[in-house]
Amino acid sequence: MTFVPRPAEACCAFCHATGSPTTCEDCRPETFLDGLTSVAPYGNAIVREALTNWKYHADPEMGKAIDLWIRQSVGARGFPGTLVPSGATITFLPLHASRRRHRGFDQAEEVARSLAAALGTTHQPLLQRTTATASQAQRSASERKVGDLDGIFETAGPVPESVIVCDDVCTSGATIDAAAEALKRAGAKRVWGFVVAQGSRP
Ligand SMILES: [Zn+2]
Repeated sequence: MTFVPRPAEACCAFCHATGSPTTCEDCRPETFLDGLTSVAPYGNAIVREALTNWKYHADPEMGKAIDLWIRQSVGARGFPGTLVPSGATITFLPLHASRRRHRGFDQAEEVARSLAAALGTTHQPLLQRTTATASQAQRSASERKVGDLDGIFETAGPVPESVIVCDDVCTSGATIDAAAEALKRAGAKRVWGFVVAQGSRP
């Protein structure tokens, strides 16, 4: 696939204030995530369709295209640059075990795998879902606010100081911030997010 997505504008993961990928000063007191980098804006229809086909139809061609976009984006921008220490541990938001069995793969883990490969390292599982997830996840994604999902993740073992958490999409930031909350509770000092697509649903 020769299409290369236009990079997303650097912005706050929560209020989408532009100018910097770090969490803005207004959102910082309410949140745990230090910043977020993405490959493309969620408003990009080609990227959105690729993510949907990959996620729900396990389309391997879409998986390959997304892997390529991640590598190109990391290569072009030198992520994580100076904002995240180059030795940060790369991890991902885990699916429920039952959903993973049904789907056969975890797209967030595949994003972590691609990012790690692009940076010449490997990814590690650091998070697991808690039993609290089911009721909190009933609310539709568009209604979730930051803080609603805190408590849905816990750490699976010792946590490094700097972590990059990967997922496929970040819209409200509530899910990735719940992961940052769990990691910081366990001792992480800096938690950065990396997603394929970021921003509001069009
Ligand atoms: Zn903000």
